[in-house]
Amino acid sequence: MKVVPSKMLGMLGGGQLGRYFVLAAHKMGYKVTVLDPDPKSPAGRISDIHLCSAYDDKEALDVIKNSCLAVTTEFENIPADSLEYLSQSIQVHPRASAVRIVQNRIREKSFLKENALPVGPFYIIDSAEALVNIPLNLFPGILKIAEFGYDGKGQKRVNNIEDVNAAFEEFGERPCILEKQIRLDREVSVILARSIDGLVEVHPVAENVHVNGILDTTVAPARIDQLVEKNVYDLAKIIALKLGYVGVMAVEFFISGKEIFVNEIAPRPHNSGHYTIDACISSQFEQQVRTLVEMPLGNPSAHSNALMINLLGDSWIKPEVHEPNWESLLSQGQLKLHLYGKDEPRMGRKMGHMTFLSVDPVSDEVVEEFLEIKRSI
Ligand code: ATP
Ligand code: MG
Repeated sequence: MKVVPSKMLGMLGGGQLGRYFVLAAHKMGYKVTVLDPDPKSPAGRISDIHLCSAYDDKEALDVIKNSCLAVTTEFENIPADSLEYLSQSIQVHPRASAVRIVQNRIREKSFLKENALPVGPFYIIDSAEALVNIPLNLFPGILKIAEFGYDGKGQKRVNNIEDVNAAFEEFGERPCILEKQIRLDREVSVILARSIDGLVEVHPVAENVHVNGILDTTVAPARIDQLVEKNVYDLAKIIALKLGYVGVMAVEFFISGKEIFVNEIAPRPHNSGHYTIDACISSQFEQQVRTLVEMPLGNPSAHSNALMINLLGDSWIKPEVHEPNWESLLSQGQLKLHLYGKDEPRMGRKMGHMTFLSVDPVSDEVVEEFLEIKRSI
């Protein structure tokens, strides 16, 4: 059922991704109710209605059910049961069953394997008993908690069985995945929008560099050959199809030599798609609105080459808290500054990002030049 502009939409989660959804929805005339327990959440602050409650709060879910025509999410850790509950009364994209799979690394990896999609070697540690049969060929590896990890949190590099035992204990013996550490030549991601009719549009592939498990830079379009580009697009489309996915979804890939592995799937827009706000005809957030209200998809093509650089709380803390030198940054006329309205800078906290737009493809020298500007502010 199409939802026409001026109606109320629901957003579960109030982070920066939700904030951009609100902005895109407002641009098109919709109103948005945001559910997020944080009274200062970036999306809650600019929403029409902010429900400051837990994601499984029945009363809050009932407000959404009774006032919104469609609801989506910006956060994979929303209880799938909340999505399920809402879907009995209103349009929910993506569906609960898709979110349930991708919000848990064990279910996510098992789904990929069952569907013969390329995933790096892994071993499931869902109990202390599973610690006895760890395959030694997974070392050096990374132990990751199955749920609630983000930005490299809930992850530990491990070199042997003793390390795994210690990390598993440190994580409170919660279910984990042990992954083999893959030699990464490149990391890329695909942001895809899939409509209720199964039509798919993809943004130009993003090429990502992580520092300490947190996204640092994205160059788009990615500097990969056409075959790799085709492969990652095809894989993302198959994943969306198999999940019966409607909405915006991101798939992160590892490229190692001639091999491509799926790293993870995000049931929402993605930090690596922030460049689409300034560099594409329709951003990932506009696509999220369009898929949610069941209107035709926008055109995801880029009109500029782009470099996106994240701004973490670190830029405010050097080591004492100070206001970054915005003037030096804004003196770059082709650079777009984005801040998410977060009051408190903390090390590693995503406070904003900057996007450099260029007629020419982005070179390594340009990336270095703008990283230097970021370091100097
Ligand atoms: P986010 O939600 O921000 O994407 P996350 O906490 O879910 O992060 P991952 O995507 O699992 O974390 O890992 C973060 C980064 O750590 C990856 O993008 C990659 O750079 C590195 N990494 C993770 N797993 C592996 C692996 N098996 N081999 C090599 N590098 C890895
Ligand atoms: Mg990731």
